[in-house]
Amino acid sequence: MNSQKELYILWHCLRTFFEDLEQWRQASSYLGITSTLLQESYDDLLKGTRADVHVPLWASCAKTGTRELCNSVTLRVIRQYKDCGYESAPMDGNPPDYIGQQFRFLEYLSVCSLREEGRFQQAAAVFLREFTVDTVRWVREALLRHSDHPELQALCAIMGDVVQGRTVVLHGQTEPLPPFDSVDWKAGMPIPMESERQIAIASFNDCGAKCLMSARVQEGCVLEITPDTSVLPFTGCSRGRAYRQTFLTADRLRYPMERTGKRGEGRFRRITWDEAAKKVAQEIRKTGQAYGPSSRFVTPASGVSALLRGDRFMKRLLGLDGGYLNYYNYYSAACANYVMPYVYGTLECGHTEEDLLHAGMIILWGHNPSANYFGPFFNRTLTQAKEQGIPIVVIDPRKSESVLTYADEWIPIKPSTDSALADALCWHIWKSGLQDQKFMDEFCLGFDEAHMPEGVPAGESYHTYLSGAKDGVEKTAEWAQEITGIPADVIRRLAEQYARTKPACLMPGLGPQRTGNGEQFYRSTAALACITGNVGKRGGSSGGTPWIPTHLLPDFAAIDNPYKGSIPSFLWTKAVENAGSMTAREDGVTGVTKLDSSIKLIFNLANGLLLTQHSNVNQTVQLLADKKNVEMLVVSDVFLTSGARFADLLLPAPSFFEVDNIVPPWVTDNYLLYNHRCMEPLFGCRFEYQWIRETAAYLGLEEDFIDGKATQEEWMKALYDDARKSEPELPTLEEFKSAGCFVFEAGDPHIAFQEIIENKGRFDTPSGKIEIFSKTLYDMDRPDEIPGLPRYTACAEGPDDPIKEKYPLQLIGYHTKRRCHSIHENNTLMEELEPPAVWIHLQDAADRGIKNGELLEIFNDRGCVRIPALVTDRIMKGVVALSEGGWFKPATDGADERGCLNVLTSSRPTPLANGNPQHTNLVQVRKAK
Ligand code: SF4
Repeated sequence: MNSQKELYILWHCLRTFFEDLEQWRQASSYLGITSTLLQESYDDLLKGTRADVHVPLWASCAKTGTRELCNSVTLRVIRQYKDCGYESAPMDGNPPDYIGQQFRFLEYLSVCSLREEGRFQQAAAVFLREFTVDTVRWVREALLRHSDHPELQALCAIMGDVVQGRTVVLHGQTEPLPPFDSVDWKAGMPIPMESERQIAIASFNDCGAKCLMSARVQEGCVLEITPDTSVLPFTGCSRGRAYRQTFLTADRLRYPMERTGKRGEGRFRRITWDEAAKKVAQEIRKTGQAYGPSSRFVTPASGVSALLRGDRFMKRLLGLDGGYLNYYNYYSAACANYVMPYVYGTLECGHTEEDLLHAGMIILWGHNPSANYFGPFFNRTLTQAKEQGIPIVVIDPRKSESVLTYADEWIPIKPSTDSALADALCWHIWKSGLQDQKFMDEFCLGFDEAHMPEGVPAGESYHTYLSGAKDGVEKTAEWAQEITGIPADVIRRLAEQYARTKPACLMPGLGPQRTGNGEQFYRSTAALACITGNVGKRGGSSGGTPWIPTHLLPDFAAIDNPYKGSIPSFLWTKAVENAGSMTAREDGVTGVTKLDSSIKLIFNLANGLLLTQHSNVNQTVQLLADKKNVEMLVVSDVFLTSGARFADLLLPAPSFFEVDNIVPPWVTDNYLLYNHRCMEPLFGCRFEYQWIRETAAYLGLEEDFIDGKATQEEWMKALYDDARKSEPELPTLEEFKSAGCFVFEAGDPHIAFQEIIENKGRFDTPSGKIEIFSKTLYDMDRPDEIPGLPRYTACAEGPDDPIKEKYPLQLIGYHTKRRCHSIHENNTLMEELEPPAVWIHLQDAADRGIKNGELLEIFNDRGCVRIPALVTDRIMKGVVALSEGGWFKPATDGADERGCLNVLTSSRPTPLANGNPQHTNLVQVRKAK
């Protein structure tokens, strides 16, 4: 066994290895080691610069066998430190139970013990036994797994011996004590622990619920998360209770890095924040000068759905530097949002949630609020509706959680055929004399030949189309049965039930509008609401987008972008590949007649869009892998996502546990949340504002960029105070911050278009009517894809596409309760909630000899996903389903092994909105070899 003096030297040497390689080179001679380890290898092992190297360096991981950071183990470590009067020193931003810090603590105990014999000897033994032995075991195993460098082997052997109490031979002078920085350390008095606090947090994920939660926190360790019901009855969800296991983990990106390997290979080198800011500034300048502002693009981001967010700050900076290529539309609701103004003249077509309770029946069409939250209280309202006995019908290819929870009837439908069902429902209602003719005559354009806009030839009305007077095909229930797979008698019964129930709420979800003909779906549901006269009625619905006017919540001021060109968000890969070929008519380019340049510089700040969330992953991989396309890809994220692996500059962002922010609700609720940070940013993480400001300084634009607001806090206050000017009900920022949640006084319930209907007013459309027939769309002269009517249009990879011979199954995606888009993918607890699997119908499985749980390959011309089967009767025959958001993880043969839906989806945009058709895919399925 080593003497106390020797132990002191040993702990010191071990500490220096985990603190700083240069210091270690000096100290290693005491252990008889000549250090030759390269900084690059050192960073790969200890700093996270290599994607496939994971060394758990913290007691929190070792003691729990998980990847958790800053948990109750960390707290126990801190308590031991404080009991012994030890102040931990910053060690590259690591949590205090970092192995280097543990060795430093043991060094402290040893030097104190030397000075005052016996002091802390017992404490050292206890600490070693409780924490360090396990941490060292984990670290040694991982280091030796990842490296066979002799220096590491020697170090690991010594670490093992020291913590086990075996004697280690020291080299060099031990008497007098070497002049380490610690030689003069003195024993401190016990330091009181911070008391435990409940902190109001509001995750700024792009979850539709936006709950206020409460974190039990002590000494920067997050011990528990529960819903905060002090102001509103938030319930949270399993993801929320497990936020810690998602965000406070050893998987975090830790320091700014620059790519060293090929794009996507996952090899980086550590750089300083200053170097990062300088490089970003150089690239902004370089691309601006070489290609013009349209070469610079900030991807649509929703990873930080809060007031202060990196993408807005970066756009602000680029705007000050000459501009950037903008985008419009977003992936969630591209078709619905684009098309509604053509019908109603606005997007605000929803009702206050409580109005559901006045409905005589509710139809949830492609809507699964049980897993895909639409406000924190929507499910509670649906439950009330069910308890009230309001019949609920769900139309969905999957027997979703909402079907199981609420539905009196589930009507499975073939994906992308929703408008055919709507056509048949409308026609049956009409033929049965159940239509609200008065409402249509008074408020609608295009229902029949007598109510058509001028300049349109005869035979173009909805009635003419439905009756088959023009094309010879009557849109009967039997006609729709062939297309949709829904029995004709079910269609007739639903039509009659919907038309006879007054009022009835038809609530379309966003799923069916993410199909190849997604625009038509929302036009169809609007037509149904009109033909039954449910528009503007209490308990009814417009069949349109669910948005309602809300308070003017704090928001980032509009960014002045000198470059006026804009593209649909879904077409960013096309703008990388060949922006010059993009036109207004074909690609929806706005603001300019032609884009000056393809995209050369991308900022992808807090989102999974680069790969996981964008269609046709393999195509995007090829595009990004070639540096001739995008010359610089800057990513800021919390984790090394599949897209982040492709970054040239990879910048670590803090999680919501580490930064204050203001969090607005997602859909319609009248409240505002404040997210309080629970700890300082871990490692070297920085909120984007900080490095973007430093970039601005390198560009000589700092003063303009900050506009007198030097810190994030000052930005928050200024933006919040701006909102108070139009919303005087808002309290001061300090009052709001202290409460964590502000609720606006309840106003009158909102019922879309009630005022227009009651006052016989005008809609904000060219005709002033609800445009069932749109002359604007008709005049586009693309009748097969963008007809003047809301009629069914068959789309590529729909159920009638000839390639069905080769790929006979329709593949759809769905929102899963185990993720919020691509967030929580790394959370192993969520894996238990819903393991990765492809849903396949019993008959489709039997036809292929597939058993439940067997590994399958789902494939088409775009790629292959290898994943276990969930054989079930909860999905329509002929349809398979994968949840969205699985991170692309290719095996050596290129097949994805995490269920990344977008490996199989198409980048062909929808015809009008140029939106994402990610639920329209044909595939085949086979057993994996
Ligand atoms: S993930 Fe969504 S539903 Fe769950 S706690 Fe967070 S905000 Fe609420």
